[in-house]
Amino acid sequence: LEPAKAIRAIDSKSVHRICSGQVVLNLGTAVKELVENSLDAGATNIDIKLKDYGAELIEVSDNGCGVEEENFEGLTLKHHTSKIQDFSDLIRVETFGFRGEALSSLCALSDVTIFTCHKSAKVGTRLVFDHSGKITQKTHFPRPQGTTVNIQQLFYTLPVRHKEFQRNIKKEYAKMVQLLQAYCIVSKGVRISCTNQVGQGKKSSVVSTTGSPSLKENIGAVFGQKQLQSLIPFVQLPPNEAVCEEYGVNATDMPQNLYSKEMFAKMEIIGQFNLGFIIAKLNSDLFIIDQHATDEKYNFEMLQQHTVLQGQKLIVPQNLNLTAVNENILIENLEIFRKNGFDFIINENAPVTQRVKLVSLPTSKNWTFGPQDIDELIFMLSDCPGVMCRPSRVRQMFASRACRKSVMIGTALNVQEMRKLITHMGEIEHPWNCPHGRPTMRHIISLDLISTE
Ligand code: ADP
Ligand code: MG
Repeated sequence: LEPAKAIRAIDSKSVHRICSGQVVLNLGTAVKELVENSLDAGATNIDIKLKDYGAELIEVSDNGCGVEEENFEGLTLKHHTSKIQDFSDLIRVETFGFRGEALSSLCALSDVTIFTCHKSAKVGTRLVFDHSGKITQKTHFPRPQGTTVNIQQLFYTLPVRHKEFQRNIKKEYAKMVQLLQAYCIVSKGVRISCTNQVGQGKKSSVVSTTGSPSLKENIGAVFGQKQLQSLIPFVQLPPNEAVCEEYGVNATDMPQNLYSKEMFAKMEIIGQFNLGFIIAKLNSDLFIIDQHATDEKYNFEMLQQHTVLQGQKLIVPQNLNLTAVNENILIENLEIFRKNGFDFIINENAPVTQRVKLVSLPTSKNWTFGPQDIDELIFMLSDCPGVMCRPSRVRQMFASRACRKSVMIGTALNVQEMRKLITHMGEIEHPWNCPHGRPTMRHIISLDLISTE
């Protein structure tokens, strides 16, 4: 046997690097943090330049207020921020950032250079930082008012993360673009543009807006004027307050408050999108429904309601060490236990706490059940005696069965098949979320809001 290795503290540089990986999680967060900083600096023009989808370079330039010389040192130090001084300021923050962690983390994870010219400065400055956020070079650099943050080789200080980042760069990029599109839409009056250059190839435009004060125009700039279907990525993003305001919806209202189940029968089916979603219309409202999630929920609820689990007889009846109260709850709810595949023999003449013996357990290929599932059912039934319920692991089993039974994303559906899925939504108890909690549908837009010009 080898002697155990001594436990030692990780050196502080490595700790900072590892922790930084928790602030800047991916390409999307890196770009988002930089764009937020530019918006916080009052920029009306933000240019994002990517090389190799951001793996090689991310550069965000703005025409915001710039950074004053006396703040150069603090820019990239952990927990340095110009946005709050003490706790009471937290209540008043109106900007995106306030933790002072983004630039510090980016330094720990990549090579960072910042070019800035404060509105009060005569000439700009170029600052190069090391991985602990210290300035290693400081030179004059003429430029107009504003700031450019240049990030090279994101994550290269974390070799494993870096490999994974490069391997999944297309996915990271796609997610980042979605996030950026959301910022483009809600940032009224700010012109945002992003380009990407792959290798020595031509720069291609990723997204560009005109700085319009209207959300609708921003949506048009991001997704193209005439395609409705292109509004779909927009609704998949968490709705921002400004968006909700313009569209007259309340983000905190769950769909069940806004809509009733009767609406499903009245919906007109417009078609299928991306082999994964059904687009349906009710009066002038367009909805997008996730075909897999909704079928999964229907199948799940059907399994929950109707499945009688097969029990398997035990060779020897098993004693359960129940308290007198729990024993009573069990005896009074035997039917519910039976539907879940648990069966017992009850000996009324035996002493209390020894009246019940387990004789049968539910079985399924990949799942084994036992006394802890009985305890859980007793617990649920003590709250709602007589109400049909399932142990959480049976629920999980149904959820995974329902998933496997349901139409997959990527399956083409004809109108009848789509109609069937939507009709089912009106027949189940809770059509709004899949068994795992993801929403089954979203309101896309009210057609009244789209002008026909
Ligand atoms: P936070 O945004 O939480 O304050 P950051 O690490 O993102 O923390 O930024 C640190 C500080 O650097 C900010 O508080 C701000 O003063 C300054 N800063 C960062 N980016 C810019 C920018 N584009 N323009 C002007 N100042 C900036
Ligand atoms: Mg910030």
